[in-house]
Amino acid sequence: MNGIKPDVIVNGHSYRWPLKPTVVICIDGGDPEYFDLYLSQGLLPNLANIIQQGFSATAKGTMPSFTCPNNMSIITGTPASQHGISGNYYLDTHTWQPVVMTGADLLRGDTILGNFAKAGAFVVSITAKDKLRKQLGKGLTPGARQISFSSEFAGQCTIADNGIEHVLELVGMPQPEIYSQQLSLFVLEAGLKLLQMYSPDVMYLSLTDWVQHKYAPEDAQAIDFYIKLDHYFGRFLESGAVLALTADHGMSDKSDAHGAPNVIWLQDMLDAQLGAGVAQVICPITDAYVGHHGSLGGFVRVWFRESFDLALVLALIAQIEGVESCYSKVDACRIFDLPIDREADIVVVAQKQYCIGSSALKHDLSGLHGDRLRTHGGISEAVVPFIISAPLRPEFLNNAHNADLNSYALFDYVLNKTGAV
Ligand SMILES: [Zn+2]
Repeated sequence: MNGIKPDVIVNGHSYRWPLKPTVVICIDGGDPEYFDLYLSQGLLPNLANIIQQGFSATAKGTMPSFTCPNNMSIITGTPASQHGISGNYYLDTHTWQPVVMTGADLLRGDTILGNFAKAGAFVVSITAKDKLRKQLGKGLTPGARQISFSSEFAGQCTIADNGIEHVLELVGMPQPEIYSQQLSLFVLEAGLKLLQMYSPDVMYLSLTDWVQHKYAPEDAQAIDFYIKLDHYFGRFLESGAVLALTADHGMSDKSDAHGAPNVIWLQDMLDAQLGAGVAQVICPITDAYVGHHGSLGGFVRVWFRESFDLALVLALIAQIEGVESCYSKVDACRIFDLPIDREADIVVVAQKQYCIGSSALKHDLSGLHGDRLRTHGGISEAVVPFIISAPLRPEFLNNAHNADLNSYALFDYVLNKTGAV
């Protein structure tokens, strides 16, 4: 209890009722490098202020360092072993078809927003890409006090599906393009308008990483985007919110000195070594929009259609240039806290400067338009900011600075460990 209403229990963990509107923002692809560089240059005055007055650290994100697993970890307060979403895709070994993992039915357990809504809170969930909307909205009954939509389909919102309509008019921005910084800025502008209109209790805003895939921290376009983000941070605070900021994953440059991507074509290599089709490589970064990364990430899964020599295959993969580590199913689940029933026979993680694909022929890199490939998925992109605008209560402060923070604890920190007792 915090004197207002009883705590809300979500997946066995209790959360205090927010004293002020609490806005959690997941900056997709928000590698700490961007914040660090711009803070050092004095470009982010509002963030600097938040860090000075509140709490700031880096945290461990969920592996693989992709969007869906991390958003689900944050929104449920649990690791992937519990919520079950370990990528955008897994392979159904009954049909040998990749299955998209974005349905609400595949998400195990409850969401923090969903249980707060059931307890009577006004909750808002806005995501840039619609692929996250169903899982983020799990447990919500769209209506006057339960709003859930994506900026991707902002123009099509209905009360029945989203709890809101006429969103473009309300936000005062045109429907944003899918590959644009506007897709993220629309989420923030919509969140700000709803905050000012309704003072919701809990809000979750999830952006998209198009900017970070395309632009390095030094690039003018990235600087421009982050200055705009900082402007929004200031406006959220002025409008009475407590802000909590994190990222789903970081972002690394994975091209060589000539600008060509450093790709391990793992399916081609395994076909050559083991025979065609014995192993099947799945790239769990794949979704409907792959123009900016060509489905190349730092983490892939390998399933085998027949029995195989685990030690031999692990040894074979481990010596490929650019491979950081490879694991058996059991080891991958133990080390990365992953759900074993959705895990492959082998998991392969790339070094920071490399990414892993399946067959060269299956990846369309034309969407990069010759730009350097920047992407994520590995351990090197699993470090994320963990920033709260309110100070932690003293009893938690030392612990938090020394602890191995997990980004999925962000709601726990902002709701349970800040403010007066
Ligand atoms: Zn991405």
